[in-house]
Amino acid sequence: MSITPPRDRSRLGTRTRLVHAGRDPSQQHGFVNTPIYRGSTVLYESYDALKNRRADYTYGTTGTPTVRALESAWTELAGAAGTVLTPSGLAAVTVGLLSCLKAGDHLLVSDSAYRPTRIFCDGFLARFGVETTYYDPTVGAGIAGLMRDNTTAVLTEAPGSQSFEMQDIPAIAEAAHARGACVLMDNTWATPLLFPPHERGVDIAIEAGTKYLSGGSDLLLGLTSANARYWPALRRTFDQFAICAGAEDVFLALRGLRTLPLRLREHGEQALRLARWFQGRPEVARVLHPALPEDPGHAIWARDFLGSSGLFSIILKPCPEAAVAAMLDGLELFGMGFSWGGFESLVIPFDCAPYRTANPWAPGGPGLRFQVGLEDMEDLTRDLEAGFARLRAAS
Ligand SMILES: *Cc1c(COP(=O)(O)O)cnc(C)c1O
Repeated sequence: MSITPPRDRSRLGTRTRLVHAGRDPSQQHGFVNTPIYRGSTVLYESYDALKNRRADYTYGTTGTPTVRALESAWTELAGAAGTVLTPSGLAAVTVGLLSCLKAGDHLLVSDSAYRPTRIFCDGFLARFGVETTYYDPTVGAGIAGLMRDNTTAVLTEAPGSQSFEMQDIPAIAEAAHARGACVLMDNTWATPLLFPPHERGVDIAIEAGTKYLSGGSDLLLGLTSANARYWPALRRTFDQFAICAGAEDVFLALRGLRTLPLRLREHGEQALRLARWFQGRPEVARVLHPALPEDPGHAIWARDFLGSSGLFSIILKPCPEAAVAAMLDGLELFGMGFSWGGFESLVIPFDCAPYRTANPWAPGGPGLRFQVGLEDMEDLTRDLEAGFARLRAAS
């Protein structure tokens, strides 16, 4: 058996590819995994090599073998021309936006985009002369009507943060490309395993590796990939900022990559089971999950996505805030906290009303977002049943 990875991986399935991508035991004394390289200085072999930067690695900020391993594995998984790694998912969003915008440009952003993305657009980008308009996430081909002469980028995210609206990415991409604009997508929910972004028309795709790639709530990481057209600009922007990811975090993400398909499938199945369970509860008005046939975004999800992950929301029937607090405070198995994608279940109350601008947010009751972990489903539903009993008692 050879210790070099299979050379032509194009004929292999995704799971096999993820086992072999980004590591080469023949280059690391036979050890299975790419080691953690830490370092700033890289020594050059000669005056000529230094003068002409003739070396695989030139300086710590531009990459190490550990970084290259994850960059190349993600590029392969996402079907991209290249990938950069950033110290957080939000940095992956901002480096993507900054690589296709300049002063005087107009940017279109989905109204259900990740809220810190909005804060970056309204704060930093506005200060540097980029104007942002928020659009109805379900606009589809209608995005053409919102494009101006100076619209150079359209940011999408599907399903939307908190509220899970689906977006017709191929239709948006077609309309945006007809006007020469760049299409970005925050693909954190699906990962390239469940939505191959560049195949569907996305130019620059963003993944918060903090979520499913980690799978352990133990690191922060962002990945931004680009197709051939936008890769040079993305790499240039990244190099000018030198917002490089930490070596240990990249190593842990490479470890997470090997089991990503299995974990994602399990999170997805568990979440769908819990979503259906919520549909049968009298306290719940609506379940926001695009893989449910009743969901308004289901047709688009079924057409474009290869599966669903572990995050969705519910809208409770109207009840006092104190009842929601009583429900959540007593939960034993659902932690309350931001972020998601780890092995453990989480719940967070949400209200999009204060910041949505394209569509008013008025769902008619309190919203709860659930991240479904790897626990036994019967334990999770028992915990929630007790929670609903507390909610009813306090209503
Ligand atoms: C969490 C998240 C991010 C940001 O990732 P961080 O690593 O926490 O900065 C970006 N987009 C989406 C959709 C997210 O859920």
